[in-house]
Amino acid sequence: MTTAEWPYDADRDDPLTQLRVPVAPLKPNTPYLVSFDRGSAARPNDVEASVIASYIDYERQYWFPVDYQRRLQESPLDVDDYHNTMTLHKYGPDHWAYRRATWEYPHPLLDPAKDQTPDKHLSIVALLDQVRVGPEIRWARWKRQRPELFEIAASAITSPAELLALPLQARYDGMILAHRVWPDDVLDTTPAKDAIAREDHDALIRAFGVPRAVTFTSDGRDAHPKAWCECHPEQDGAPWVRYERWTSDGREAHGYVCPTITCRRLLQSG
Ligand SMILES: [Zn+2]
Repeated sequence: MTTAEWPYDADRDDPLTQLRVPVAPLKPNTPYLVSFDRGSAARPNDVEASVIASYIDYERQYWFPVDYQRRLQESPLDVDDYHNTMTLHKYGPDHWAYRRATWEYPHPLLDPAKDQTPDKHLSIVALLDQVRVGPEIRWARWKRQRPELFEIAASAITSPAELLALPLQARYDGMILAHRVWPDDVLDTTPAKDAIAREDHDALIRAFGVPRAVTFTSDGRDAHPKAWCECHPEQDGAPWVRYERWTSDGREAHGYVCPTITCRRLLQSG
């Protein structure tokens, strides 16, 4: 694209541009729906970047009729002349703030200010919970439909069956759904083998129902808790990985496994 075809003050080559997240000045001249402040002290991690991209989708769908949404999506970034852009700023890990384009002195440059006490720090989702457009129920539904981005609180789950139905990488109570187990006789069928070969777990669920068991881990990788770890990861200072295994009867096992990718076996706690 030439300059004329790139009429934005966002960084064209920034990887976040691929996610339709503009990386632009704190006070951008282009009226994006939402942008990320390129002067931030820290960059969004992968999940945060996807959360911001999802929030832009949410705002686009909230504000505009379908035809206009489609027109916006034909451009690389979402821009609307009448929009009071929200610019997101990351101070550090789980420490976010924002500003609106129309803010003038004596409004703070960013809200919350950086020097808020640590217990006032906001994660990107906690910040969006406060500043998002639209009724809370609509935003809550949006988040619930995207459990791989927006963590599900333990209080929101009323039965183990709801956990078994979650997709891989769903975030629940500080952990990530890492593995799902179906009975062997189900997995031996042609449609199941096909779904596994294509790594299409949703096709598996459609064909055979929810898994018999699921494993959550704090880092989203699989665990092998049936054998003891012998590689002593505590000597490397790597944090232990929490795991929980659930069936329809409830939490069947929990504990810690080795963080070493080639091991992932059970660690003796206590
Ligand atoms: Zn180990």
